[in-house]
Amino acid sequence: MSDIPAAANFIRNIIEADLAAGKHAQRRWAGRPGLAAEHAAAPLDPAKIRTRFPPEPNGYLHFGHAKSILLNFGLAAEFGGRCHMRFDDTNPEKEEQEYVDSILDSVRWLGCSWQDETENNLYYASNYFDWMLQFAEYLIDAGHAYVDSQSAEEMRARRGTLTEAGQDSPFRNRSIEENRALFKRMQAGEFPDGAHILRAKIDMASPNINLRDPAIYRIRHATHHNTGDKWCVYPMYTFAHPIEDALECITHSLCTLEFEDQRPFYEWVNERLAEGGLLQRPLPRQIEFSRLNLTYIVLSKRKLIQLVDEKHVNGWDDPRLPTLAGARRRGYAPEGFRLFAERIGISKADSLIEYSVFEDAQREVMNQLDERRVAVLDPLKLIIDNYPEGQFEDCHAPNHPLKPELGQRTMPFGRELWIEAEDFQEIPQKGFRRLFPGNKARLKYGYIVECTGCDKDENGKVIAVHCTYLPDTKSGTPGADSIKVKGNLHWVSAAHAYPAEIRLYERLFAVPAPGARREGDAADVERNFLDDINPDSKRLITAQLEPALKDAQPEQRFQFERHGYFVADRVDSGPGAPVFNRALTLKDSSHKGA
Ligand code: ATP
Ligand code: MG
Repeated sequence: MSDIPAAANFIRNIIEADLAAGKHAQRRWAGRPGLAAEHAAAPLDPAKIRTRFPPEPNGYLHFGHAKSILLNFGLAAEFGGRCHMRFDDTNPEKEEQEYVDSILDSVRWLGCSWQDETENNLYYASNYFDWMLQFAEYLIDAGHAYVDSQSAEEMRARRGTLTEAGQDSPFRNRSIEENRALFKRMQAGEFPDGAHILRAKIDMASPNINLRDPAIYRIRHATHHNTGDKWCVYPMYTFAHPIEDALECITHSLCTLEFEDQRPFYEWVNERLAEGGLLQRPLPRQIEFSRLNLTYIVLSKRKLIQLVDEKHVNGWDDPRLPTLAGARRRGYAPEGFRLFAERIGISKADSLIEYSVFEDAQREVMNQLDERRVAVLDPLKLIIDNYPEGQFEDCHAPNHPLKPELGQRTMPFGRELWIEAEDFQEIPQKGFRRLFPGNKARLKYGYIVECTGCDKDENGKVIAVHCTYLPDTKSGTPGADSIKVKGNLHWVSAAHAYPAEIRLYERLFAVPAPGARREGDAADVERNFLDDINPDSKRLITAQLEPALKDAQPEQRFQFERHGYFVADRVDSGPGAPVFNRALTLKDSSHKGA
C-alpha cells in the first residue's frame, strides 16, 4: 500500500525542516534513557528522530490510539528514526498488567515494532521514579519548587479564574531547608494522602492557569503494578511526561490538542532541568494534533468501560467494539488502518470522520489481499435431476481474480447443491435473472442449469428447487459460451459442504452521534448513548461453506463472493472447525447517506 499519496500532515513538514536545519544532529544516545551526562558520554544518536507512543495502561486501545500509533511509528520509519513504546504508568491506581499485555498485542498487530537488531525501545515511566524524585529535589534546591500544606479546597480557592489572577499560598516562601525536610518526610510515609503536595514555583498570576504553581509530586499510599509498595509519593502526569520524553531523547513529542495549554509547563520543566545540567539539549518539542473522532462509535474510555461492564457487548474484544482488540477479532485489516490513517492526514482542526471512510479503506485493502471463497449464508437445496446420483466432479475457482499467481482451488460438484434462498423465485419479480421455472442461469465455475420447479412443505414454503443441467456448458470448456445467460449464482456441493456458525455484525450504534442531542429535541432533553445501541448489531446464522474453508486458520480472512469479508474467529474456532465473523459487506448498501 506504499503507493498511496500522503494526505496533509503538518508534523511531517516540521520534521523535514528540523532535519534540514540539523537541529537534532548533535544529539547523543546512551542506548537507553538517561541523564544528560550519560548521553553526553555516548556516540551520536544513529536515529535521526525519536518519537514515542505513551499510553497509560488503564484500558484497551481504541481506534483513536491507532491514529497516534501509526503517526508516531510511521514518522520514525519514514525519517530513519525510532519510535519508543512507553507505558505512562506513573499513576498507581487503575493500572494493570492485563492492559499492558493487550496494548503491546494491539501495537504489534498494527504492524509497529519498537525493537530491531540494535535497539529495544520498550519502556515503563515507573522505572524513572528515582530520576523524577532527584529532579523534584533539584527543583526544591534551585528555589523552583515548594511543599504546600493547604487543603485541596484552599488551593482551589486561591487558584483564581481565567480572568482573575490566583493568590500565593501562605506556604510559598518556605525555606529550601524546610521544603527539603518536608519532602523527605512525605517520601518516608509520615503523612496521609493529601496532607502536603510539592508544587512548582512559577507564577500565581500567569494568564495560563497551568502555570499557577502546578502540583508536581503528591502523596499516594497505593501499590503500583510495577514498583509495588516502594513509593508513597508519585509524580503528577504533567511533570512526569516531559521528563520521560527528555530522558529518552525524544525529538518530537506528539500529542492530542487537549495538551496544548500544558505545553508551556512541559517546556518549563525540561528547561529548568536542562539548566541544571540534568537533561540533554536540544529538548523534545511537543506538537499537538487533533484527535480522531468517527461517526457511529464512541471512543471515550468511560463509555467503553460501561459497554463492557454492563455487558452490552461480550468483553473488550467484542467485534463490535471500536477497540483494537475488537477490530482484530472482527476481521478488520491492520493495512486498512494504515490506509485510513494516511487518508485522513494529521491537522489541528477538530473533525468528525464518517465511519464509511474507515470501512472503505478496509474494503480497499481486503479486496486486494483476501482470497475468494464461496459461502451460502441462507441455504436452499438445488437438485439437478439429470445429474447421476453418487457422481461428483471437480470445478475450479480462482483464489483471487486479480492475482492469478494465487492459483485455483477445486470445488466438488454433484447432484445436490446448496444455493442462496434469495436466488430462486417461483414467480419472478421484474428484472430477476437467477432461478425461476423455465429460466436458465449459470452455476458459477460449473454448468448452466434450467430451472424446472420446486418442492414445498405443508405451509407453502419452498424447501428444494429442481433443475436440469446442460452437460457441454461447463466453465472453462469450449462449450461454456455456447448459451448466453444473465444470471450467475454461487453454490456448494451439499455432500461436501461445511456447515458453520457465522456471526453477522452490524454497527453497534444506530445513529451517527450516539448520545448526542438531535434536531427537534426539547431544550431539557438529555440523551444516553446506551439508548442509541443498535438492537440488531449481531445475528448468528448457520451457513454452508465450500469444503476448503474447513481448513481456515484462526484470523485467516476471505472474501465470501457476493457477501463480504469474513474472518475465522481467533477465539471460538476449534481445530478444523472454524467459525466466521463478518467484518464488512462488499458494499456500503445499508447506510446510504449516513
Ligand atoms: P481516552 O481519552 O480515550 O481515555 P487517553 O488519551 O486517556 O485516551 P492514553 O493512554 O493517555 O489514553 O493515550 C495514549 C496516546 O494516544 C496519547 O498520546 C493520546 O493523545 C493518544 N490518543 C488517545 N485518544 C486519541 C484519539 N482519539 N485520537 C488520536 N490520538 C489519541
Ligand atoms: Mg490520557
